Amino acid sequence: MELVSVKGMLDKALKENYAVGHFDVHNLEWVQSVLEAAEELNSPVILGVTEEAIDYFGGFSVAKELVISVIREKGITVPIALHLDHGSSLENCKSAIEAGFSSVMIDASKLPFYENVMTTKEVVDYAHKLGVTVEAELGSIGGKEGEIVSDDPVYADIDECIQLVTLTKINCLAPALGSAHGPYKGEPKVDFKKMKKISESIQIPLVLHGASGLYPEQIQQAILSGTAKINVNADNHIAFTKRVRQLLNENRDMYDATRYIREGRMAVKEMVKEKIRLFGSSGKA
Ligand SMILES: [Zn+2]
Repeated sequence: MELVSVKGMLDKALKENYAVGHFDVHNLEWVQSVLEAAEELNSPVILGVTEEAIDYFGGFSVAKELVISVIREKGITVPIALHLDHGSSLENCKSAIEAGFSSVMIDASKLPFYENVMTTKEVVDYAHKLGVTVEAELGSIGGKEGEIVSDDPVYADIDECIQLVTLTKINCLAPALGSAHGPYKGEPKVDFKKMKKISESIQIPLVLHGASGLYPEQIQQAILSGTAKINVNADNHIAFTKRVRQLLNENRDMYDATRYIREGRMAVKEMVKEKIRLFGSSGKA
């Protein structure tokens, strides 16, 4: 088995009340950690790649080929999806799909509503013909989103969610409801009531961005409110950096980079396992 569509994964998760983890990957070490964690817990998993990470990898096909090689070399058997995270244009979504990604997010949430609908629809028309899943966003997630940094999230509107889903036929929706990318400044205030209402109104899986830093109870509440895909990024960076910083502080003469990178990689793998258990997807492959 190589890459699978996100749609099947999420429809099953929504029905069975758990969520599939979406972990952003940036390099070989992150890909290895996420795949090993998922395989050991027998869980489906989504590897997300942002446009920034595509640049870091050195291209869409580099990211895709790397993921496929690791899947083959490690004999990974659990369902794996490769997803473009926060795609900013139809062109970039097309490039991801041409390179073999099985899912894309088109984030036209900064545009006026009808332009968001039109851009999202263009991506859906292209992607669905090729069996690729599409995620879209409404409102504005706090923290750093692409080039934009904002402290105040803009909450998604229920009627706009219904219209966007009806007009575009997307497979999953990320409605901004108070979550933020990166570490939270102050207490996270997520509107779970609205999340449940949106879920009941649109009947497709919801996506929660900015899950790093939310309490386990909030994660459970999100899942009970219709969330079937949870995006994690910052917590993995924090785990890696903390472990490496400690190791280097304790071993001032350590110079072999593979020694501390290996340790950092273990910390990411442990964090991914913790998240998979929290989301309830272990044993669901
Ligand atoms: Zn996001």
